[in-house]
Amino acid sequence: MTATVSIVIPVFNEEAGLESLFARLYPALDALGRPYEVIFVDDGSRDRSAAVLREQFERRPDATRVMLLTRNAGQHMAILAGFAHSRGDYVITLDADLQNPPEEIGKLVAAMDQGADYVGTVRARRHDIYWRKVASRLMNRIRERTTQIQITDQGCMLRAYHRTIVDAINRCVEVSTYVPALGYSFARHPVEIEVAHAQRTAGQSKYSVYRLIRLNFDLMTGFSVAPLQFFTMAGMALALLSLFFVIVLAIRRIFIGPEVQGVFTLFGIAFFLIGVLLIGLGVVGEYVGRIYEQVRQRPRYTVSALMEGDEASLRWTRQSSPQNRHIERVEGLRSEIDHTEMLRAERAQGPTGE
Ligand code: UDP
Ligand code: MG
Repeated sequence: MTATVSIVIPVFNEEAGLESLFARLYPALDALGRPYEVIFVDDGSRDRSAAVLREQFERRPDATRVMLLTRNAGQHMAILAGFAHSRGDYVITLDADLQNPPEEIGKLVAAMDQGADYVGTVRARRHDIYWRKVASRLMNRIRERTTQIQITDQGCMLRAYHRTIVDAINRCVEVSTYVPALGYSFARHPVEIEVAHAQRTAGQSKYSVYRLIRLNFDLMTGFSVAPLQFFTMAGMALALLSLFFVIVLAIRRIFIGPEVQGVFTLFGIAFFLIGVLLIGLGVVGEYVGRIYEQVRQRPRYTVSALMEGDEASLRWTRQSSPQNRHIERVEGLRSEIDHTEMLRAERAQGPTGE
């Protein structure tokens, strides 16, 4: 039997580019010649994205499912929400901005058919601004050194995961994570292929420098304790060095006399060490903060609406996974979006003078 495919697409304020995504995505998927579903996860967009997704759902209810998250939970949480709802044997993630061509999905599916359970991708010629490429290369290098995750291009989100991996991911309850790395950690036969990459045609990147740094911390803290060990090692090295320094000073004091110069050198060294200490404290804080978020056990995201066709009309053999059952189906989906639309219109009009 041919394996079925689920495509999971996180959407955050992408109204400008969604129509051109639909125009290329659906033909590319039809060409696969196997049952598929596209799960759009609206990550609390504040523009018309939800309404555009509803229109698409009405056009293709047989193959489209739309989840609306209540608030912006972040790209990776949105993908996890989609995973929890996916039913395909192969689950493929794709960005909504057409930077990864949907036409490449066929290649990933072919690699999965050949027995891979995780298909990673490398952007052949990456079209992003210069500093992002440099920063990415640096982060890829650091991550490779500190974690066991062997991914060449961690930023490329067009990836395929086998059902077994998605089920394993669905059992994870971590609040800050990095989906490609998490998937990789469960993979038995991971492969990598090259895919094309394009510039963003509509809308803007949703990642500021700050969000990118946070994301990299998620990756680092989620998959390694090497940063903590680094500070332990650095502490030991510094302690040894200063012991040596103290001995030299003591000998100098006995044979040459007290030292009075070099006060500012001492300041320099002291400030440097204070800096190192603060960074170390910050790194510990990054872990502790995440532990704190984790122990509170708040829901990672909340689903405010779900649009999907009649289950029976979908040609799916797989029963929906247990995770799917506890997400409540919200009635009156139309009114949900209409309400959002109304709020948006009100906001656009400005204060009403009440
Ligand atoms: N995205 C999301 N929630 C966010 C940020 C981004 O769902 O908080 C989605 C976004 O709509 C897009 C994908 O994640 O489909 C990748 O975002 P973007 O293209 O801005 O990232 P970049 O390509 O700049 O790394
Ligand atoms: Mg992008």
